[in-house]
Formats: sequence, structure tokens, C-alpha cells
Amino acid sequence: MIKENFNAIKEKLSDDVNIIVVTKYHTVEETLEAYEAGVRDFGENRIEGFLEKREALPEDANVHFIGTLQSRKVKDIAGSMTHLHSLDRESVAKKIEQYAEHEVKCFVQVNVSKESSKHGLSADEVQPFLEKLSSYGKVRVIGLMTMAPLTEDEEVLNDTFGRLKELRDELQESYPEITELSMGMSNDYEIALDHGATYIRIGSKIMGSR
Ligand SMILES: *Cc1c(COP(=O)(O)O)cnc(C)c1O
Repeated sequence: MIKENFNAIKEKLSDDVNIIVVTKYHTVEETLEAYEAGVRDFGENRIEGFLEKREALPEDANVHFIGTLQSRKVKDIAGSMTHLHSLDRESVAKKIEQYAEHEVKCFVQVNVSKESSKHGLSADEVQPFLEKLSSYGKVRVIGLMTMAPLTEDEEVLNDTFGRLKELRDELQESYPEITELSMGMSNDYEIALDHGATYIRIGSKIMGSR
């Protein structure tokens, strides 16, 4: 089923869109099944899951860290983290600088919907944050990430994804290297794609629900 689910979504995408398959609720065995089906980008939101899947997967797979990362935990994964989707604090960037041996591709997480339960910077905090990061050598910001509210209200979803895209477009004037948009999950990825998502993060629609 994983293969069919993955292909069904992949078929709908243009070549510039990357699917991150989120394996956080699934076993190593199921994750390897996804690899066999052709998945090369995986997403994990906890340190333990990240390390377990990283160790099990072949070298040519990327494991993206998509969850909240505490700065004191950065050193545990800095050696093997290639992509971080939740950067919103300088303390985390400092630890990446200290512990990573290679560049880490980062997305700044933005709390577009301003839900208090969500992590991320508000839209107007992003530019000052990028200025602070400009002197960092290992932290390479390539895009913005957001999580939409848990809703089926298309107006809210359109508004959220549309605003992240607008913010990216504005920032590109000063930061041309910020090209990517990590947005869209199982229930809202089609709307995210309408607004130019370049990384969608899909768990249950591919791996099955838990
Ligand atoms: C779990 C998770 C996803 C995937 O969620 P699904 O609804 O299962 O597709 C995407 N992004 C983040 C940050 C997540 O924690």
C-alpha cells in the first residue's frame, strides 16, 4: 500500500515539488518499505525516531528533522541532520554552528495563523532573525515552513499558505537564496500546492494512520 499511496501523490506533482514521507508513527520495517518504494526524503519529529530511522536507512536517503528541536538536543543529531524544518531560535542555530560538520539546510518556521499552540516566529520577526543568521556558516536557510491550523476550512488554509508564499516572495528581494516553501500535510497538501509549496510533508496519506 505504501508504494501505491506514494505513487498516487507523486503523479500529481510537478518535478520541482519534493515529498517528505513522515514516518514518525511507523516502524523501521515500514520505513524501509517506503525506501523500497522509491522514497528518499523522510521526516521525523523526535530525536529517538530520527536516529533510529537514520541508522536503518541507506546513505542516499535524507531524514529531515521536522519537529521542535531543543537546543540542548542539537548535538545528538547534528552529525547526521541535513535538513531542519523548524528553525525559530538563535540558540538552536548556535548549537548547529558548534556541532555540525557540514551545512544544514534550514527552513525558518513561521506561525502564520498566530495560534498560540504553535511554534514559529511571527511574520515580522523573520527578517530580523535572518539578519542574525547571516553570519552563520553551517546554518543555510533555504526556505520557510509553516503548519496550518487543523481545519477543513479552505478559506483559512488558503489564507495561511498564501501568506507564507507572500512572505517568501518579499524576503527574496533581500535574500534571493530563500526559495523553498515547506507546507502541506496529508489533509491540506493540495491547497499548499496551489500556493507554490516545494516540500510537502505527508504522513498518514502514504504510511497509513496509527
Ligand atoms: C506529523 C507531521 C506531518 C505529517 O502529518 P500527516 O497529517 O500525517 O500527513 C507533517 N509535518 C509535521 C511537522 C508533522 O509533525
